[in-house]
Amino acid sequence: MKVPLVDIKKQYLNIKDEIWNEINEVFETTSFINGFKTKEFEKEFGNYLSTEQNRISTIGCGNGTDALILALKALKVGYNDEVLVPSHTFFATVEAILLLGAIPKFIDIDEESMLINPKLIEKSITTKTKALIIVHLYGRPCNMDLILPITKKFNLRLIEDCAQAQGAKWKNKYVGSFGDIGCFSFFPGKNLGAYGDAGLVASSNIELIKEIRLLANHGRKEKFLHNFIGQNSRLDSIQAAVLNVKLRYLDFWNSRRCWAASFYRKLLKDLDVKLPNFSSDCEHVWHQFVIRLNNRDEIYTVMNKKGINVGIHYPIPCHLQPALKFLNYKKGDFPVTEKVCSEILSMPICPEITEEKIHFVVANLNKLMSRCIFT
Ligand SMILES: *Cc1c(COP(=O)(O)O)cnc(C)c1O
Repeated sequence: MKVPLVDIKKQYLNIKDEIWNEINEVFETTSFINGFKTKEFEKEFGNYLSTEQNRISTIGCGNGTDALILALKALKVGYNDEVLVPSHTFFATVEAILLLGAIPKFIDIDEESMLINPKLIEKSITTKTKALIIVHLYGRPCNMDLILPITKKFNLRLIEDCAQAQGAKWKNKYVGSFGDIGCFSFFPGKNLGAYGDAGLVASSNIELIKEIRLLANHGRKEKFLHNFIGQNSRLDSIQAAVLNVKLRYLDFWNSRRCWAASFYRKLLKDLDVKLPNFSSDCEHVWHQFVIRLNNRDEIYTVMNKKGINVGIHYPIPCHLQPALKFLNYKKGDFPVTEKVCSEILSMPICPEITEEKIHFVVANLNKLMSRCIFT
């Protein structure tokens, strides 16, 4: 039996007819850029994130990396400004900061949650610190009760990288609706994924939304009048059509992921691995189910050889990436991040995974670790 890390094909086959109906409308109207499908998705996703007290507006854009760039630009982060960010994230979070000439200041993670450690934020703030980017990594919301008072006290702009956490909640409120701006990626493998590149920014601040609308479309209000230097980053109508269909399934799919996570937890509990902890303050959406173990590299290689696609998100922390050598970080600077990166293993998880497959994955892992859990 083969077990993919995520089964995009199986999901597609389940919703194929609906997808093609929506896409067909785009072709029939030849409304390919900023068309009605894009408007519809922006509205629906805004409604999804909103509460009675907190109305969220959204702007679709080209991808999740662009969403971060647009957010930083709209918040006027630029040359030599410092932006606080965890080193344990996908590289794009940091890339966005550097592309604007700003400087990423890394913060270590908390070992239990594997997310930015709120206790370490305050001491990293300087007079040059302009913003904080938090990452709801693996689908798990950061502790907003600890983070919001800090951004408020120091007047820091807050960006939420929600690329892995569509539909996740901190105390009944969706991530992406806490900070100044929430940034989403709809890369195909995410919990809500398009069939190509796509992204979105979300905010309750109408002024920021207006600004981002212009920034994402060459800084223009009218066709030939450019008020400032923007960029071309728009949500393609075809991708928006796909997302319109898939958004209707997001909560159901996330509940399937939660079921899979609980099932993994049950089967893995007697193995010599560290399981991700479940917090009652948040609704985790399990973009990844990440365990920790000592002989990770060996297990990773053998499992993949057997056709069980396990992953590592991520093996090299951002502060140790060759591209960031000029920032002069070194091994040992963020000990928790470095330790975690050497031990983590992402198990196959997606809404379509079955009980049989999870049994198979765990049985193989167990065999490899040469202990028996089914006694
Ligand atoms: C996927 C991802 C991004 C980038 O999104 P793209 O759409 O691929 O540009 C940014 N941050 C995190 C944490 C991600 O997982």
